[in-house]
Amino acid sequence: MPVNKDSYQQIRTELGKHVTLVAVSKTKPVAEIQNLYELGHLDFGENYVQELVEKQRQLPSDLHWHFIGHLQTNKVKLIASFIHLIHSVDSLKLLKEINKQAATNQRLISVLLQVHIATEESKFGLDAAELKVLLSSNEVKELDNIIIEGLMGMASFSKDIGVIRKEFQTLRSHFDTLKSFAATSPNIQPRLLSMGMSSDYRIAIEEGSNMVRIGNLLFGERI
Ligand SMILES: *Cc1c(COP(=O)(O)O)cnc(C)c1O
Repeated sequence: MPVNKDSYQQIRTELGKHVTLVAVSKTKPVAEIQNLYELGHLDFGENYVQELVEKQRQLPSDLHWHFIGHLQTNKVKLIASFIHLIHSVDSLKLLKEINKQAATNQRLISVLLQVHIATEESKFGLDAAELKVLLSSNEVKELDNIIIEGLMGMASFSKDIGVIRKEFQTLRSHFDTLKSFAATSPNIQPRLLSMGMSSDYRIAIEEGSNMVRIGNLLFGERI
């Protein structure tokens, strides 16, 4: 099913200028990404390295590719030359590898730290204590080829809006923690709070999100 131009424009209008829309194109064919690109959209999110690399090769080079899935250390080198923002960094080890591959490619790579806010065990991310340990580490200060630009989190799959709102508020408070670390290291430059998906982006924006990751609502349900 091709992207519905009207629903795209409607979402863009609703989000306004201050919330970045990442169109989550995972499992969707290159032609559908191209459709959205032709409407002037540049930011796309993928969660598998192999799929991302294949799509990147086939599409215009001015797209902004966002990596939103769990990233294995040994795969970083495959995306380091072109990735725009990695949303899902959840360890110092991964941060160091991204820094190394960024240096190899003579570029800076922007990243978000993923924080676990949902009740489900299966979701990746740092907990509050791990976040503080990572940010306090002297090693982070030495990573000259990365910029920590903010946080990403996923709320629980719940019908209870109160639960979702609370989780987003928790992430928002971690974002304030991140801001309090900005003075400690030049590569900590918090400005992005990536929270909200098709089902909960309105709540996320009410709770301070400035970057939403939307798939289903733009491209139709994934099978
Ligand atoms: C798939 C995915 C999304 C988009 O989900 P939709 O329900 O299709 O909007 C957002 N964030 C992450 C991390 C995802 O894996």
